[in-house]
Amino acid sequence: METKPSSSNFIKNIVIQDLESGKHKEIITRFPPEPNGYLHIGHAKSIVLNFELADEFKGKTNLRFDDTNPTKEDTEYVESIKEDVKWLGFDWDELYFASDYFEEMYNWAVHLIKKGKAYVCDLSAEEIREYRGTLTRPGKESPYRNRPVEENLQLFEEMRAGKHKDGEKVLRAKIDMASPNLNMRDPVLYRIVHASHHNTGDKWCIYPMYDYAHPLEDAIEGVTHSICTLEFEDHRPLYDWIIQECETESQPKQIEFARLNLTNTVMSKRKLKQLVDENVVDGWDDPRMPTIAGLRRKGCTPEAIRNFCREIGVAKSYSVVDAQMLEHFIREDLNAKAPRTMAILKPLKVVITNYPEDQLEMLEAENNPDDEAMGTRQISFSREIYIEEEDFMENPPKKYFRLFPGNEVRLKHAYFITCNEVIKDENDNVVELHCTYDPETKSGTGFTGRKVKGTLHWVDAKNAIPAEFRLYEPLILDEDSEGEHFLEQINPNSLEVLKGYVEPNMKEAKPQDKFQFFRHGYFNVDTKYTMKDQLVFNRIVSLKSSFKIGK
Ligand code: ATP
Ligand code: MG
Repeated sequence: METKPSSSNFIKNIVIQDLESGKHKEIITRFPPEPNGYLHIGHAKSIVLNFELADEFKGKTNLRFDDTNPTKEDTEYVESIKEDVKWLGFDWDELYFASDYFEEMYNWAVHLIKKGKAYVCDLSAEEIREYRGTLTRPGKESPYRNRPVEENLQLFEEMRAGKHKDGEKVLRAKIDMASPNLNMRDPVLYRIVHASHHNTGDKWCIYPMYDYAHPLEDAIEGVTHSICTLEFEDHRPLYDWIIQECETESQPKQIEFARLNLTNTVMSKRKLKQLVDENVVDGWDDPRMPTIAGLRRKGCTPEAIRNFCREIGVAKSYSVVDAQMLEHFIREDLNAKAPRTMAILKPLKVVITNYPEDQLEMLEAENNPDDEAMGTRQISFSREIYIEEEDFMENPPKKYFRLFPGNEVRLKHAYFITCNEVIKDENDNVVELHCTYDPETKSGTGFTGRKVKGTLHWVDAKNAIPAEFRLYEPLILDEDSEGEHFLEQINPNSLEVLKGYVEPNMKEAKPQDKFQFFRHGYFNVDTKYTMKDQLVFNRIVSLKSSFKIGK
């Protein structure tokens, strides 16, 4: 893998301090997704941060499924998450499931009850909310708050045994109903959910809440630095309370950083699932999705994502990153890797009237002018070719250097041609051009007789392979689309499908092969729609962007 990031950040500084002071001999981080959807580029930020931090200090990183919510989770998501983490280039040290700790978590809850630090409460969810109070109004104590320990133990056991219905009872921590921090006003630790779990099946009908489960998961695994996003900052006192009152052997610390937000997309599994369920997109791996699977299918490389995550860095303040910055890293990576080739997205036929009818010649072209090692290829040329519809104008404005009647242009890797005649259909649409070529001007022969200003790409009509091209625009029109109304902001033109042609030698192209199409940008062979006789390309990015790093 590439060289390690050297830039410093506040989390790294904490780690350095903890190692220098001897607080920890080795650091352990974790990436803890809930398997309730596919990973997105925001998760990539967390993955890169956790894995590279541990790596830099010779520590460990575990992949842990935070699967404490049976109704939303699924093994499909577990599998996709594993695949995505690997594809991003990371190897976890251990693979854990929070649901494997349900028994230990239960025992700790019993421990809390015995200490008088937890109680079974019969208030409904709505009543609990009412009793909690607000930032300006203190909470009210539950009438069940002072239940005797024995009764709590018995009721909690009954909850586990399935004697009560969903919502009838909860287990709550007994902390402080007057705390200025709402999270500390007797938070719920366990709820009753009669539902099958993807891992534990029907073994349990009580499930721990995130705020209770997460610190214990970290403690069980010996995690030293539990890195999470800023929304959990106000939950940290509860995290510390759980660790302290459960008297766990290891004492993990929670550290928060700002989550990644990108322009013109949504970044939450819940919202992304809505886009999938409502068929706004073509599945979790739709190339317009900010999911890792979508970015992969579109043609983005793991190197580009890693470099992007390093560049955006780690901070404590909220910001929205311009999606063009990710594109910058994709271009940078593919510029070095993707062979150049020609594709015609909107074909216009050109007949070269002075080229012999049955002649076919092979022209040599380099695959990457910046990198000789990428070799050359042979492109066939004959009497009929396709050029791009937009490369011809019958009545051009000044400074138009492409093809128009009477003008001469260069065909990339081939000859100069001059347009002599425009053929139209009954509706006055241009359907064909008649041109002549000059054999003297063959590319690579050192012809210097005269210069032309325009260079067009083309494909040989006889041998070109038909292909479909899928061009993408941002899915969401609103730049900062973290609101709830994202479904009203869907861009109706986020996908454009074109039918054209690619060079004959592309018949060997396989799904996930990436190319730079002259003037059109970088394209990836689609994994889903490419068939034996049907090549489908996704545009990854166009060639140019106005975006500059450090702008
Ligand atoms: P979502 O709302 O998309 O489901 P989440 O935070 O609930 O996000 P988890 O599966 O719980 O998703 O997240 C796993 C890890 O990824 C957590 O540590 C979380 O902090 C981190 N993470 C999630 N979204 C982002 C983001 N946009 N930027 C950085 N880290 C993120
Ligand atoms: Mg979540």
